[in-house]
Amino acid sequence: MSNSKFPRRIALALMCALILAAAMIPGLAEETKAPKYVFMFIGDGMGSPQINVTQYFAGTRLNPDSPVPVPAPLSFTGFQNVGIMTTYDATSFCPDSASTATSMVSGQKTLSGVLNFNIELTEQFPILTEYVKASGKKVGVISSVSLDHATPAAYYSKSISRSQYYDIAVQGLTGTTLDFLAGGRFLQPDGSDGEQINLFDIAKNNGFSIVETPDEIRALNADSGRTLAMVNDPDNASAMQYEIDRVRKAAEGQDSVKLSEFVEAAIRVLDNDEGFFLMTEGGKVDWSAHANDARTAIDDVLALSEAVQVAIDFAAEHPDDTLIIVTGDHETGGLTIGFAATAYDTHFAYLQNQNISFNDFDGVITRLRDSGADFETALTEIEKAYGLTAEADQGLTLTEDELARLHTAFDLSMIPKADRVIAAAEELAYGGYEPLSMAVSHILNNKAGVAFTSYAHTGLQIPVYASGVGAQEFSGSYDNTDIFYKTMGILGLDY
Ligand SMILES: [Zn+2]
Repeated sequence: MSNSKFPRRIALALMCALILAAAMIPGLAEETKAPKYVFMFIGDGMGSPQINVTQYFAGTRLNPDSPVPVPAPLSFTGFQNVGIMTTYDATSFCPDSASTATSMVSGQKTLSGVLNFNIELTEQFPILTEYVKASGKKVGVISSVSLDHATPAAYYSKSISRSQYYDIAVQGLTGTTLDFLAGGRFLQPDGSDGEQINLFDIAKNNGFSIVETPDEIRALNADSGRTLAMVNDPDNASAMQYEIDRVRKAAEGQDSVKLSEFVEAAIRVLDNDEGFFLMTEGGKVDWSAHANDARTAIDDVLALSEAVQVAIDFAAEHPDDTLIIVTGDHETGGLTIGFAATAYDTHFAYLQNQNISFNDFDGVITRLRDSGADFETALTEIEKAYGLTAEADQGLTLTEDELARLHTAFDLSMIPKADRVIAAAEELAYGGYEPLSMAVSHILNNKAGVAFTSYAHTGLQIPVYASGVGAQEFSGSYDNTDIFYKTMGILGLDY
């Protein structure tokens, strides 16, 4: 609407001047510039509950005497741009890591278990990392679980089944997308039948240098070239250790590389004039949440937070060129803060007594079984590892009912696995895991005032934290497929 007090010609001139001025302000002009460096962090199974529980746990540890709850910030929880996304896939409200990673890397929904293929399994999707690579950037993928696992796999391969581990790894090693692949190892280095060409030979033949010791990994640099870097102290699933176990073993003198060190190595190897895209997965938040092991999940969230801090420090040196995105693929375990028996009370400090993952405690249980140990001996091991005690009047004193639950689980755990007959109620109580490990975790969680509803994934919405160039795009409410479209838009890439 023009008016008599403000002639149209003057208004037009003013408008032109404003547009010109805006274009000349560096801050505004740079909004349109694509980031040179993009860091994508995915906490597998990391929903709001996992992040929140970790903040309360860390806050309680930092402020043990505070009469009021003090949540501690994680490296990324203060990011200015926060969004929330839906994660359902073509199969289910409770998706898996293959379909959710497919959504984020291709912008398409697919079936659970499928990597970058359509629902009919007839057509492959083009993926973000391919576009990024074609634009001249280098591409890196890091995971704390095996490198052929669904989340890392989605960033470099396409498969109608996430369990075609060998084929997935071959795609990564023979393809042109990856410049850096690091973290855990491969589940089937010689194929599912053990008779295929060894993956490490394939890696070497495709120009990868392979590094496996902490010293070699810490020495990686700009001259290292295409790199395959793996821990060499894997647990039985070719993954990095749970952070809680890594820390305990490091205190005993066993050195192994942590997730943040892989991010540091990736930056040294990948940095170049065109920039890079680096996806880092904290994969064992999911595994520990499946096993309802709250403290172990917390430590793996903390390890991911430390890894994000490396990107934050890098961004501080390249503030106009860096985008950092931190999210999860789905929630695992139906974790919540609050439990019927503790009502409005929580005792996060109780979780500090735990110093071992359920996975390593399974090893303790195996030794108890092999030595024909009695329940008293098991209780001693439980007190050492979790702080739960039969002694009266302690914070973590086991009630009669809890002792009975432990005894039932102990009896079942002492039967060799092949001879166990698991009733439906026991299946629900232990979720297919080692009964005594599960009973201990559930009791400690519940005393702390946290609880799980599931041994599987849930359909909760997942928060997205973003910082840096284009980060404002990630504010608001959207679907996980939008991660692809937003990132492509920010990078100025056509699809
Ligand atoms: Zn999972």
